[in-house]
Amino acid sequence: MLIYNSPRGTSDYYGEDIKYIDFITDTAKNIFKIYNYKEIITPHFEHTEVFTRSIGENSEIVQKEMFTFPDKKGRSLTLRPEGTASVVRAIVEHKLYGENLPLKLFYIGDMFRYERPQKGRMREFRQVGIEAIGSDGPSIDAEVIWMINNFFKNLGFKNLLLYVNSIGCRECREKYIEILEDYLKPFGKDLCHDCVNRLDKNTLRVFDCKTSGCKKILENAPKISNYLCRKCEIHLRKVFGLLKVLDIPYVHAENLVRGFDYYTRTIFEVISTDIDSAQNALGGGGRYDNLIEEFGGPKISSIGFATGLERTMLLMKDLDIDIEEPGKNQKKIYVINMSADFDEYLFGILKFFRQNKIICDTNFNIKNVSKEIKWAQAQGYSHIVVIGENEVDTNKLIIKDLDNYTQTELNWINEKSRLLKLLR
Ligand code: AMP
Repeated sequence: MLIYNSPRGTSDYYGEDIKYIDFITDTAKNIFKIYNYKEIITPHFEHTEVFTRSIGENSEIVQKEMFTFPDKKGRSLTLRPEGTASVVRAIVEHKLYGENLPLKLFYIGDMFRYERPQKGRMREFRQVGIEAIGSDGPSIDAEVIWMINNFFKNLGFKNLLLYVNSIGCRECREKYIEILEDYLKPFGKDLCHDCVNRLDKNTLRVFDCKTSGCKKILENAPKISNYLCRKCEIHLRKVFGLLKVLDIPYVHAENLVRGFDYYTRTIFEVISTDIDSAQNALGGGGRYDNLIEEFGGPKISSIGFATGLERTMLLMKDLDIDIEEPGKNQKKIYVINMSADFDEYLFGILKFFRQNKIICDTNFNIKNVSKEIKWAQAQGYSHIVVIGENEVDTNKLIIKDLDNYTQTELNWINEKSRLLKLLR
């Protein structure tokens, strides 16, 4: 028989992983609520143009990494490679920009990129992201960074480093790119093949190059911070000032660039410095002041951030960060049924437990009782109840506490409140 594997770059999650995923998403939802963010859910696929126009025709993602396919009527659709473009499309489509800006939204969902899979880099992965729509001031940038910093702290990360830069507004960036190109062109063949291409199409991305030759050339390249216009310069300084007030350590990373064309001014990345790994980037984000207008909405400035769920989980495991399992101390009962003849009696008991929100389960196949007890113990059940002929005849339950090996005998029909008290 043919056994199928999941497609390359995808993963199944179960058991321990689900505990991490729940912990990360619950922590995100709790912290986002404190900062007044509301959830938005958008489709997993969009018209291809939603991504090509926003992320940029010449970006790595659009050029190489999108899962694009025609639907049955020949329309081009793409599985979303990131969240911002879809959220902005939804905001404009439903005119969500009311009077009360900024509009603060968060999303949790699957993203798809055709990348070369490796640890922490997948073709289907999940992102937790936020978008703050409708403020052009630096204070919202600082608040977003503050919230993200708190999110990772609440997950248990101790040493975080924040790289912050400004890539300017359209005007100062264009001037800077010309200056950068003038600096790079004379190096000609000393640049790697990819950087020669980038010079043609997406110059700023040269700062992402990992080859030592290009890195060396870029050490002395002109820095955008020296070419920011006055407004962009003041904006960045104000963000830094607020981060200082909040005691959030940051580095002005003058060579930081990001993969999407829509970014303007403030961009940032969060790194875990507890680990020396190529995949220690937990997430990144930035301001996008023109995107809503480019999608046909009003001219309102915004900022967003996204973190990779799998990447976060991997780093938490590598760093041995323990997670607090919700309901860990809650009582859990395993009801062992000795015979299918007692099913009706069993279902009466299960119904009572479940109506009273007590976690319980039973053996649906009749097996050896002592093996069942051992199994229940290994699964973290706190109590067991065995149902045999005697119990059915007398309505008696013997409840065994698996932590301290004590047992209580009671009549579960006449002593319901005693039973509930014992299990809460
Ligand atoms: P980006 O949307 O490229 O700014 O990425 C934001 C975060 O998403 C990264 O810092 C990673 O944590 C995560 N991420 C991006 N691409 C992948 C991928 N292919 N596999 C897993 N996580 C990813």
